[in-house]
Amino acid sequence: MIDILEALRDLRGITATPGRGCTRLAFTEQEDQAHDYIWQRLQSIRGLSRIDDAAGNMFIVPQDAVSQGTAVVLLGSHLDTVIEGGWLDGALGVVVATHVLASQADVGDAGSHLGLVVFRDEEGVRFNTGLFGSMVFAGRCTEANLDAADADGVRVRDVVPDPAGCWDYEPPVRAAAFLECHIEQGERLTTSGNRVGVVTGIVGIRRLELVGTGMANHAGTTDMRRRVDALVPVADVVARLPSLVDGLEDAVITCGRLEVTPGAPNVIPGRVSAIVEIRASEQDAMDDIERRLEALVESMRAAGARGRATDLELRPVVSCAPIPTDPQLASHLADILRARGLGHERLFSMAGHDAQHAARRCPAGMFFIPSVDGISHNPAENSSESDILLASDVMLAWAERCIAEGT
Ligand SMILES: [Zn+2]
Repeated sequence: MIDILEALRDLRGITATPGRGCTRLAFTEQEDQAHDYIWQRLQSIRGLSRIDDAAGNMFIVPQDAVSQGTAVVLLGSHLDTVIEGGWLDGALGVVVATHVLASQADVGDAGSHLGLVVFRDEEGVRFNTGLFGSMVFAGRCTEANLDAADADGVRVRDVVPDPAGCWDYEPPVRAAAFLECHIEQGERLTTSGNRVGVVTGIVGIRRLELVGTGMANHAGTTDMRRRVDALVPVADVVARLPSLVDGLEDAVITCGRLEVTPGAPNVIPGRVSAIVEIRASEQDAMDDIERRLEALVESMRAAGARGRATDLELRPVVSCAPIPTDPQLASHLADILRARGLGHERLFSMAGHDAQHAARRCPAGMFFIPSVDGISHNPAENSSESDILLASDVMLAWAERCIAEGT
């Protein structure tokens, strides 16, 4: 058996920023250590083996299932974090899965139908992509994803175990289903008083980079008519982003990253990169917003076409479609919650999760437990101990039910 709270506290201690929350960026020593910690907790169980795939995703699965090609119900999440993040995001789902796997192994051969997966680089902090490991698992990794570089110029292809195997991918085990639990990272459950949120679908996320190219020059001696400032038209676009989602319920748009080069107070910006992120529950809405963004950029180009103008270019960076979770898995879960008299509700997730990529490989399901005050990606992130323990009880019952029903 695994003591869930103890394992979560141990993982909290694996951080690059002791005393300032959890920092385990993708493909760093801390993320590796966290993967090894989970394997150490399970390696003594007879019949289980660890397989790290081409992307470095860790599978802990029954050897029999691998050798005989039997499908397993995979449980899991991720162990990377944002910078100075909380102790539960990702870790909760992995520790709960570890607990379920250990409990099943204790009771006998039902364990041979269960596996655990820990996906790499869910957060996307280091390489600006996100959901990388599960994207590989889904068979959707591209050469461009492998070329993404961190701030030091290190590329994804330099750190994954097998770059070629990432885009020409075969999972190490057949997946019958993927089940994930996670903290809600919002306030809907605490507001409603329900202890579990059955996730009905996961938001689509599209990121585009808007690059403005002007000409760096002296901010004092270049008069206003002669300058080609890369920031002004980009800032104009950013200021109008909120209007692009007018009338589209639940769609959001954000520019959360702006790089101004050379970035000196006395130099006119020569190059600006702005990452625009669109989220929506419907694919049509996402297409609509992207078209509006293109039209806005085009109108800025037209406005600048008179005289010396900044060159504006819009290019796609990340595209992940909104996806419903599997209705059958969700109904098994709802049955379990009803039978236990637990208050629950159906929720659509506006945060991205590994389950949305996993859903392209096999039926996928997910549930949330409440986040205290809705805080996440912050050292103050928390859930009550009773909700954490409830998550593992519910996951155990759900996994057993899925195995019994053949999902
Ligand atoms: Zn997460």
